[in-house]
Amino acid sequence: MHKIILLADMESFYASVEIARNPSLQGKPVVVCGDPQQRRGIVLAANREAKAYGIETAMGAWECKSLCPHAVFIRPHMQEYINVSLQMTEIFQRFTDRVAPYSIDEQFLDMTGCENLFGTPQEMALRINKEIQKETGVRCRIGIGENPLQAKMACDRFAKKNPQGVFQLNCENYAFLTWPLPIRDLFGVGFRMERNLHRMAVKTIGCLAALPREKMKSRWGINGEVLWLNSHGIDYSNIHSCSTEKHKGVGHSMTLPRDYNHKGKIEVVLLEITEEVCRRARGLKKIGQVVNLYCRGADFNNPTGFSRQKKLAEPTAVTMDIYPVVLKLFDIHWNRLPVRALGVSLSGLIEDQYIQLSLLEDKEKKIQLGRAMDEVRERFGITSLFRASSLTSGSQLFDRAHKIGGHEA
Ligand SMILES: [Mg+2]
Repeated sequence: MHKIILLADMESFYASVEIARNPSLQGKPVVVCGDPQQRRGIVLAANREAKAYGIETAMGAWECKSLCPHAVFIRPHMQEYINVSLQMTEIFQRFTDRVAPYSIDEQFLDMTGCENLFGTPQEMALRINKEIQKETGVRCRIGIGENPLQAKMACDRFAKKNPQGVFQLNCENYAFLTWPLPIRDLFGVGFRMERNLHRMAVKTIGCLAALPREKMKSRWGINGEVLWLNSHGIDYSNIHSCSTEKHKGVGHSMTLPRDYNHKGKIEVVLLEITEEVCRRARGLKKIGQVVNLYCRGADFNNPTGFSRQKKLAEPTAVTMDIYPVVLKLFDIHWNRLPVRALGVSLSGLIEDQYIQLSLLEDKEKKIQLGRAMDEVRERFGITSLFRASSLTSGSQLFDRAHKIGGHEA
């Protein structure tokens, strides 16, 4: 049986929410951005009227002002956008229990088996569109596919460009419709990969599809193979509904190879553990608000240790936000006896797109930096990037990178 996967995407999301809140903005160019007086403010969203002036997302606010001085500039109301995003999920859940948010303004729905209730995929999409528009005031575009990749391609490449805001790709029409498109239109092809592929004279999605799968695999490993699959409209992933996917917390702990009683050395190990916890949280695209520190003493006959937690002011997955809290917990509760095992966990997790906007500029940058580091590590191994303190004698990082599995306590 063919699956029916929908990807719903909100048009100019932040700007549309602002207009829905304040209908007098209707028809005017509306730009949501950081402080337009400040040079570092950037455009987070612009409606269609503003885009007609050449305004684009991520453009500097000052540049945008020179393109369209009479645009309405609005500071973002992040909590409002989060609320609308949650409201969208609720509306989708009336149609299926398999809903998975992909970003703040995009969500996947698995509608397989719902034909008797809601009709053809086209009819389902139109009906969902109508309901979203009526209740949130925001226009939604829906891509339909037999897997998430096809739905995403249908949405980004076709639904956004047609007046109904709905488009369906399937295994029959995928090649015919997508192969003539430029290679940058393929999901997963970024600026750099586009350049690489151009050098191989691969200009369209069809050119890539015509290459042998093995060639893409040997050249770029798993990434190359995934791109090849994407070019054929193949994607084996499933939609896991958000309600069943509950991450209680992420944690990491280690049993030390010897007793540690030098505070400075213990602190180095705590940094490495904290870094690993944050790396895992970032990998899951989560941020958390509760930090737990666990410490076990070295003397089995006289078991000592503690497990204590602290709630942060805001959720985060930034190592250097969490590390000072870990240090403080350790300092308060450590009885100065030798330590044999340490663990840190982060719980109270939420999706990392729900970062309070007061912190957005700074914090997003930090999280992005953290992610970039994680990517390099993934590609070249954990020891390719490390903090300078890991070179000091207390460090466990180099030792452990060679061990299989490490010592999970
Ligand atoms: Mg959108």
